[in-house]
Amino acid sequence: MSEQTTALVTGANKGIGYEIAAGLGALGWKVGVGARDDQRREDAVAKLRAGGADAFGVPLDVTDQTSVDAAAALIEENGGRLDVLVNNAGITGGGSQMPTTVDPQTVRTVVETNVIGVIRVTNALLPLLRRSAAPRIVNISSSVGSLTLQTTPGAETGPIAVAYTSSKTFLNAVTVQYAKELQGTNVLINAACPGFVATDLNGFRGAGTPKEGAAIAIRLATLPDDGPTGEFFNDAGPVPW
Ligand code: NDP
Repeated sequence: MSEQTTALVTGANKGIGYEIAAGLGALGWKVGVGARDDQRREDAVAKLRAGGADAFGVPLDVTDQTSVDAAAALIEENGGRLDVLVNNAGITGGGSQMPTTVDPQTVRTVVETNVIGVIRVTNALLPLLRRSAAPRIVNISSSVGSLTLQTTPGAETGPIAVAYTSSKTFLNAVTVQYAKELQGTNVLINAACPGFVATDLNGFRGAGTPKEGAAIAIRLATLPDDGPTGEFFNDAGPVPW
């Protein structure tokens, strides 16, 4: 079994996921670049390697169980163990998402990727994570999914977008459920909000850079054994659920 710390980042071909992979690669880790498109994945791996990272491509569509199982098999071949999983892949679903007029199919599609995708990937990889001395799972959420912030007068929240924001609320609940089941093991699982970052996801309207957005995920990926689990953080500290 490889001694090198190994991570997998889903949706790592661009945006925040790419920068998380770059940041973990800079620690000297072996980094699996999970991406569904062959060309985009190969380009990202080549760029990460050119920057000195020990990156390898992992074909991965988080909505496809066969793809997820194949990704787990590939990681098993690449060292037999996984130390860190960053569930970063996500979509907004686009279009108007006012609750009274949203297309139910949009909600279904977003939840399939942002929530069920995370469950599917996490469960396929948990056997490999359990072989690690310090397994860490980071779920990339968003403060727009915080019910506390949404219901606090004057608090900064995102636009009304029922599929996307509710998928992150759902993901937060899922993160807490995993943490409860895994309590007492060495697996630490937390949710991270990268902040409003300029990427494809928002038409590059975000204020921060993808590298800035990656910082909190990298911190949660490198938590010490007595670090938190079942919590939600942004770069400034805890985010209320
Ligand atoms: P991008 O659109 O730049 O990146 C999203 C990534 O997810 C891409 O690599 C995309 O791949 C991948 N992806 C989407 N669907 C799938 C799938 N079914 N299987 C595998 N990969 C998939 O967005 P960001 O970097 O901004 O988003 C990353 C995460 O950060 C998301 O979870 C998002 O919700 C979250 N976030 C982003 C914020 C922001 O301001 N940008 C704020 C808060 C949270 P492909 O290139 O093939 O489409």
